[in-house]
Amino acid sequence: MGFFDSIRNFKNRIDQVESSVYSGKQSLLEVYERNAKLEAEIVLRTKELERANKQMLTLQHIWDMMNSSKPLSSVLNAIVNSLQGELGYLHSFIVKQKSDVEGNYLQIVAASQEDSHLTLQKRFSEFFKCDIDDYKLQFPQIPELKNAVNNNQIYQSQNLSGLICGFLPELEAEKVNAFIKDSKMKSYILVPLSSKQVHFGSLIVFSSRETVSGSEIDFLSLFAKQIELAITIADLFQAVKEQAITDGMTGLYNRRYFEDFIKKEAVRANRQNQKFTVIGLDLDHLKRINDVYGHNYGDLAIKTIAEVLKNNARSIDVAARMGGEEFNIILPGVDSAGGAVAAERIRKAIESIELEKIGHITASLGVATYLEHSEEIEELLELTDQAMYESKRNGRNRVTIAKPAYETSWEEIAINTFADILTKHRIPVDEGTAQLLSRKLQEMNINNEKLYQVADTLVSSYNPEHTAGGVKQKVQLAALLAKRFELSKANLDKLKIAVLLYDIGNTMLPKDILRKKEPLTKTDRESINQHPVIAAKEILEPISNVVDIIPIIEKHHENWNGTGYPNKISGEAIPIESQIILIVDSYFALLEKRPYRDAMSRDEALEVIEQESNRKWSEKLAKEFISIVRNDFS
Ligand code: GH3
Ligand code: MG
Repeated sequence: MGFFDSIRNFKNRIDQVESSVYSGKQSLLEVYERNAKLEAEIVLRTKELERANKQMLTLQHIWDMMNSSKPLSSVLNAIVNSLQGELGYLHSFIVKQKSDVEGNYLQIVAASQEDSHLTLQKRFSEFFKCDIDDYKLQFPQIPELKNAVNNNQIYQSQNLSGLICGFLPELEAEKVNAFIKDSKMKSYILVPLSSKQVHFGSLIVFSSRETVSGSEIDFLSLFAKQIELAITIADLFQAVKEQAITDGMTGLYNRRYFEDFIKKEAVRANRQNQKFTVIGLDLDHLKRINDVYGHNYGDLAIKTIAEVLKNNARSIDVAARMGGEEFNIILPGVDSAGGAVAAERIRKAIESIELEKIGHITASLGVATYLEHSEEIEELLELTDQAMYESKRNGRNRVTIAKPAYETSWEEIAINTFADILTKHRIPVDEGTAQLLSRKLQEMNINNEKLYQVADTLVSSYNPEHTAGGVKQKVQLAALLAKRFELSKANLDKLKIAVLLYDIGNTMLPKDILRKKEPLTKTDRESINQHPVIAAKEILEPISNVVDIIPIIEKHHENWNGTGYPNKISGEAIPIESQIILIVDSYFALLEKRPYRDAMSRDEALEVIEQESNRKWSEKLAKEFISIVRNDFS
């Protein structure tokens, strides 16, 4: 407004001058003086106009960036960059409020990248021997500043050391003063930022001038509005993205849509008593394609699969990319025989395509049918997955029809669980071990010996004292004990799987604790005590066909007299399967050497088992255990 008013005044004055010249009442000298003044003013105003124009262009540029699909961080960086470029500030940056376990802090989310700023960063790291980006900034404890932020007002001050020491209390004040003295900075301006009336951060600029003019403040406010707008737009984009139902790379439906759709389809299937089939598909050897030909060709392979699925789907089918190289297709109204035909058609279509450079690609497929193999969605998808893994195991590029859940042997469940854990990297075993085990699993026809080998290798990876063959003995001993307690076949199967998996959480423990020679500290103990929970919750929970063994594993460190962990439950409240695991595990641990003690003999170990009757386990369990080891087990 001020600017346009002055232009208007200026024009009025020219009019006045003109009329005075016209009327001829003023002397020529007077007119000349006036004209000279006006010329000077014209130069000044023109400069102002140029500057306003530049500012307009800057804002226009930012607006264009916000309309493009650039990520928020680059928009913010461009904003601070242009701010510095146009108004000649030394440095400008945006901080955002964050919080973590230690509390709230400020983080720099964008900073100007002009030479002067880079020099500042460089100087900072030289001066303080630390990179500014490594710091979590604190809220400066400056009352006036806080006040301004609370009232959403721009704050300007020359107290640079107050600001820097406020951000970084760990810096020495003297050093900060020296740092400032050595720079061109004379003052700073802080503009609070808010979105939907909530303060979320600030724009801060360092200026080489001691004061700021009113128009500068107006302009900075405008700038801050642009930043707020950019952040609001980014939030909106995020919200829109979350509502999206298609996968950006392939145009197929995404996981979210698939999950919604299958739920609705199950309701419909139940109401009309009509089956539907799910085909699960995983591209073979994508990692190899990526490694040999590069990611672009990996992407090409994924897009090719998507095209095949689109071409082979009826209009009512739903083909979705579940993530990475995994696809699912729902075929409404189709039973498993029809699903097998469709899957085979897809497999053949993929195999027949020849791609540039890569040549032929193949995929492994699994097929499961709702109301045929399972009546639960979770289980249905798990069965589809298992059938797909079986295709992989049997040589890839094939279709496998799922087996109904009740026909699946415990060995199959165990193998598929290991395959799932290893291929989806649910545990941090080293790459070599993971590959070795994956290969073994893939070669495996359901065979107990190989299953135990895999389990033994896995246990050895976190317990160097583990003896080969140990897992098999544990399963056998647990099974013999279970018979004396009349477990049903289903519960016996669960127990066997639990024996293979109960210590899987140990892979998440720092190795140095497990190998420690000194007695464990309280912290070590607590971290070890948490392991059944880690195993149950984090590793096994996503695998739907083993979720019902989690409660067994969670309670296998509870003692009969209530002194165990994590919940100190006692007596019959502890499932018999958990008690069996505890006693079997303890016995084999006693037979193994430990860094802090020698291995025990069978009789020594049994003596300990007996001593712990009524403490760690029931008298009956100890008695049965000892009798089995003495008589039936060698
Ligand atoms: P398998 O036949 O056993 O399925 O072997 P694989 O190599 O296909 O499977 P693995 O799970 O070992 O590796 C999958 C690889 O796929 C790893 C991952 O980096 C890659 N990948 C996942 N998503 C994408 C993507 O969108 N593009 C590309 N190029 N690669 C992807
Ligand atoms: Mg694959």
